[in-house]
Amino acid sequence: MGSMTEPFPLAPSLWAATAPPAPPTPPLEGSVSADVCVVGAGYAGLSTALHLAERGIKTIVLEAHEPGWGGSGRNGGQVIPGIKYDPDEIEAMFPDHGADLAAFVGSTAEAVFDLIDRHGMDVPRVRNGWIQGAHTPHAVETVRGRAEQWARRGARTAFLDKAATERHLGTAQYDAGWIDYRGGAIQPLAYARGLARAALAAGASIHGGSKVAALARSGSRWTATTERGASVVADKVVVCTNGYTGDLVPRLRQTVIAPNSFQVATAPLSDNVRKSILPEGQVTSDTRNLLLYFRLDHAGRFVIGGRGPFREPRSAVDWAHLERIIEKMYPQLKGAPIEHRWCGRVALTRDFLPHLHEPEPGLLIDIGCMGRGVGLQTAMGMRMAAYVATGDKRALPFPVVPIKPLPLHPMHKAYVSAIIAWYRMTDGGVKAAA
Ligand SMILES: Cc1cc2nc3c(=O)[nH]c(=O)nc-3n(C[C@H](O)[C@H](O)[C@H](O)COP(=O)(O)OP(=O)(O)OC[C@H]3O[C@@H](n4cnc5c(N)ncnc54)[C@H](O)[C@@H]3O)c2cc1C
Repeated sequence: MGSMTEPFPLAPSLWAATAPPAPPTPPLEGSVSADVCVVGAGYAGLSTALHLAERGIKTIVLEAHEPGWGGSGRNGGQVIPGIKYDPDEIEAMFPDHGADLAAFVGSTAEAVFDLIDRHGMDVPRVRNGWIQGAHTPHAVETVRGRAEQWARRGARTAFLDKAATERHLGTAQYDAGWIDYRGGAIQPLAYARGLARAALAAGASIHGGSKVAALARSGSRWTATTERGASVVADKVVVCTNGYTGDLVPRLRQTVIAPNSFQVATAPLSDNVRKSILPEGQVTSDTRNLLLYFRLDHAGRFVIGGRGPFREPRSAVDWAHLERIIEKMYPQLKGAPIEHRWCGRVALTRDFLPHLHEPEPGLLIDIGCMGRGVGLQTAMGMRMAAYVATGDKRALPFPVVPIKPLPLHPMHKAYVSAIIAWYRMTDGGVKAAA
């Protein structure tokens, strides 16, 4: 796309093929100073930078590739409020501020659509709700409770029985479901680029091709040095590298497991076929541990994602399981050409919560999106900006916790493969359509 970004290309994907051009984000040269240096230009880093710049705080973002290169440019584009835990659980887990935390996680989809509107971003989007299908009878009670808990807190939700779920999804795959009307869909890379443009317009600087190789503190100032030897000296650093975290901060990478999630997209479907799948424009994912998520995009392509090998893909065979699932769920898609195959890394924590760390004064870290970060990381960025600007920890929705590596992290690839095999067995397969 943009010539400034060519040396740091995005992985090919449906989103890379259809997004509006990237704004210019040339590599950092020389040594510059700022109030805040943000490392990583996904939703978390870009939202932090936008909201700092709007407060008049001089902010420089350093990104190894280009904005949206990581999970933010590759995801399913499903804008889903909430986290893994239901609001009643959140209130029980955090007796002091659980109600505020539940309200925060419930507000994250709204934050995305509001920012897109406020900044006039060029982002294909739809907001007709997100449906979660229950894949077992036990999960029916889970989704019923989920819908009720959020409704009690004022959200527009509904439990869908088996027939209603089938009507909405166009497949009889699920025993029931619930719909959360706060959710919707975006073109994820267009949104990352929209955030980058908004942050630039607010006065932030963003440098692609600027991988930070070292972070060093001297007194109250931090120096972030890039692989090419350029540097930013700043009062504060915010690290937002999530599933692509390397060894920049000691032991941080070992706090998460970062598996790949795989996706495929068909060619645009004919009108007739399109009307038979998610006809009311919702997006959906299910209650499996290794969840399946699917939707139509703005041009009527069927897009589905799910598990895949932990390693980077070697050939189209690594996506074949998703292609088989498409035909089982929607026989009318048999033979539909698959035009795009891609994947990206999510970051999973041991307690299934996103983690905030502050290992030294002036160094704030956000990691562990748990695979649901379009809304969450956007809203986290807003709160991190408020904290960095004011020093008031109450701005942070989650507690700041110590960096605690997972036990046996060096074994994590074998460990993840074992978990995937176990979940594949216990989740059960996709049923063939009758
Ligand atoms: C395939 C897939 C499907 C998903 N589907 C959904 C979905 O439908 N809905 C949803 O809500 N969530 C979804 N997610 C999760 C969501 O995409 C992520 O939670 C979110 O994008 C994370 O944003 P982030 O800013 O934290 O990290 P990222 O977007 O991953 O950004 C991290 C950035 O840090 C940069 N970086 C790393 N190290 C350095 C360094 N040393 N110096 C400079 N830069 C560095 C990387 O290049 C990268 O650009 C999905 C994720 C994937 C991968």
